[in-house]
Amino acid sequence: MFRLILLAGIIYILLRWLRKSAPPKNKEQAFHRQGQNIEEMMQDPVCGTYVPIGQAVTLTQKKETLYFCGKECRDKFLQAPTEDKH
Ligand SMILES: [Zn+2]
Repeated sequence: MFRLILLAGIIYILLRWLRKSAPPKNKEQAFHRQGQNIEEMMQDPVCGTYVPIGQAVTLTQKKETLYFCGKECRDKFLQAPTEDKH
């Protein structure tokens, strides 16, 4: 009877060990995906966050294009009084 409990315990530990050893592969793939986006980063003029161009909310003003981390920041930028003191 004691041997059966011991065997069940070993199987349980083995199953837990197998589950633990699975995650790292996914982490590595996620890291590679992030690495591809690092090249094209633009700074949000409102909050100062660096945003990948592909995910950024863009706003074209006159000749320049601005990149924002989200619509909230773009709205803030549009609402704020422009500092054009020429
Ligand atoms: Zn922002």
